Amino acid sequence: MKILISNDDGYQAPGIVALYEALQDVAEVEVVAPEHNNSAKSNALTLHSPLYVHRAANGFRYVNGTPADCVHIALTGLLGYRPDLVVSGINNGANMGDDTIYSGTVGAAMEGYLFGIPAIAFSQTEKGWKHLDAAALRARELVQQMLLQNMVGKQPWLLNVNIPCLPLQELKPAKVCRLGRRHAAEPVITQTSPRGETMYWIGAAGPVLDESEGTDFHATAHGHVSVTPLKVDLADHDKLGYWAQSIAQLAVKAAA
Ligand code: MN
Repeated sequence: MKILISNDDGYQAPGIVALYEALQDVAEVEVVAPEHNNSAKSNALTLHSPLYVHRAANGFRYVNGTPADCVHIALTGLLGYRPDLVVSGINNGANMGDDTIYSGTVGAAMEGYLFGIPAIAFSQTEKGWKHLDAAALRARELVQQMLLQNMVGKQPWLLNVNIPCLPLQELKPAKVCRLGRRHAAEPVITQTSPRGETMYWIGAAGPVLDESEGTDFHATAHGHVSVTPLKVDLADHDKLGYWAQSIAQLAVKAAA
């Protein structure tokens, strides 16, 4: 079994080092990760500047690009083989609810999934790497069980996993969850640059809107590891009929 590891916090982040070390004796593992922090880059690809790959002293390869760039070039030529699994993380902070749309951690995993490879995005629910060893052990457990149960290397699937920052003995079993929801983000922050121009900082993520039972927010708040299967199809299948009717009516009205 071969596993490709990436992340969005950069190849030097404690989370990716812990994940690599945890998976090292579970499979053949290789790291291809961004050189710098690329949080909130989603599935962005770098199309208008070249990408360079370097190898760090610990064997990790790093790229001057996004998480999706890393997985993309790894799968399309850099590795020279097809990994059985792509894992991303462990991210410094939660990727739950609406975060999954923006997350570079999820983006790296999603890139593997788009190439037909099973993929898992791992995040810790709080920043600061508290109890990272426990999170890495739980990640390792999940991957190991999936390998043993032959769930890896056949049909592609995409899982978003969030692990509470708790000591191992306090972490509760994994719970399969839907995504919660957040409110829209906090207001943009403005500052004045030394040259008198207004600078804008994207505001913090919004507070939680739906953390009801069954959501990732609810599960992790109660100490469970949340596991959410994701899909990529953004089409609103439930609304296809409504929109077919509405657009047809617009055409009728426009003709009248
Ligand atoms: Mn991150």
